[in-house]
Amino acid sequence: MTKIGLVRCEMAARACPGTACFNAIKTRTGKFEEFKSEDIAIIGMITCGGCPGRDAIRQAKEMVHRGAEVIFICTCLIKPIPNPPKCAYAEELADAIRDKLGVRVIMGTH
Ligand code: SF4
Repeated sequence: MTKIGLVRCEMAARACPGTACFNAIKTRTGKFEEFKSEDIAIIGMITCGGCPGRDAIRQAKEMVHRGAEVIFICTCLIKPIPNPPKCAYAEELADAIRDKLGVRVIMGTH
């Protein structure tokens, strides 16, 4: 069992209900392919809190406290979807979550 948390873009969340992320988890496709022989427990799915995304770290910390072992930076932070521009803070947020919380971070979901 792998316990995961997801961080999504606040702006994208206004247009996207997370369907592609949840489908990738269910079908073990995209960045979830490596977990195809494992059960996954979704601890939470949070937004960054809006540019420049500083709330992501506080909320990711809460997911880690609740058991998350791997934090996924959703595809909406690493590609210009559903709308441009691409997030300018994704790498910085990922590094901060990795360094401050000591968990594995995976870039992208589907
Ligand atoms: S910081 Fe990045 S992920 Fe957060 S709202 Fe801004 S563009 Fe979206």
